[in-house]
Amino acid sequence: MPGAAFLQPEEETRVSATVDIIPIFWYINSRERCGREPHLFLLKIPFTEEAMLKVCSICNKEFDGYRSSKLCSDECRVEKELQRSRSRAKTKEFKKKQLQYREAHRTELSARQRAYHKANKETINAAKRQQYAQDPEPAKRQAKAWAKTNKKRVTQNNKAWVKANPDRVRASQHKHRSAVQGNGGSYTAAEWKTLCKQYNYKCLDCGKRRKLTADHVVPVSKGGTSNIDNIQPLCGPCNSRKGAKCTDFRRT
Ligand SMILES: [Zn+2]
Ligand SMILES: [Zn+2]
Repeated sequence: MPGAAFLQPEEETRVSATVDIIPIFWYINSRERCGREPHLFLLKIPFTEEAMLKVCSICNKEFDGYRSSKLCSDECRVEKELQRSRSRAKTKEFKKKQLQYREAHRTELSARQRAYHKANKETINAAKRQQYAQDPEPAKRQAKAWAKTNKKRVTQNNKAWVKANPDRVRASQHKHRSAVQGNGGSYTAAEWKTLCKQYNYKCLDCGKRRKLTADHVVPVSKGGTSNIDNIQPLCGPCNSRKGAKCTDFRRT
């Protein structure tokens, strides 16, 4: 209601046709329903306003209001304010201000975002996984764009991954080598681990528990494949001693 102002209790005035004061509890309503003259919560509004049946612009319910009132309740007024702020957020002016604010509070905002992400890791990751399962394209595009602008980080990450996954690197190198030779075949890091476990993590030649390497029983150079059935675990020294011979230590 434009120009409306709450009055102090001592200023409360009985409603009459000659003063420009009308109660917020609609004049006609209160008198008819409560059987008394309303005097609480007085609003000063232009007397030209007439009470009438209105339709709330938020919930579409009918209510008794003045010509200028469009909302039936506090809930609907709050909802209207939310709608206003949402549409305000879409304007250019607001976006410009938002950008300026973000620039000025960059560190603070990113710290807050990191903290939020840390606290809600599981939920966020689950949602991302679901999104990826439904449509992986946007995530792939995003990753590609990120890699383009963060080349150093990509190199670092790749190096770290290679360091952390030696078994998988070895497996892929072997696959590549026998593919180049035309022998084919491949094994997985899991197959390699199972094989090592099967021989109690011991070198099949010297029997010592040293760091094991995957040796091709029939060397790639002699047509051996990189399938797990052509792989035996040998320690480094034994592997290089064996060289290009076809010794199968698994049978001895
Ligand atoms: Zn309403
Ligand atoms: Zn050995």
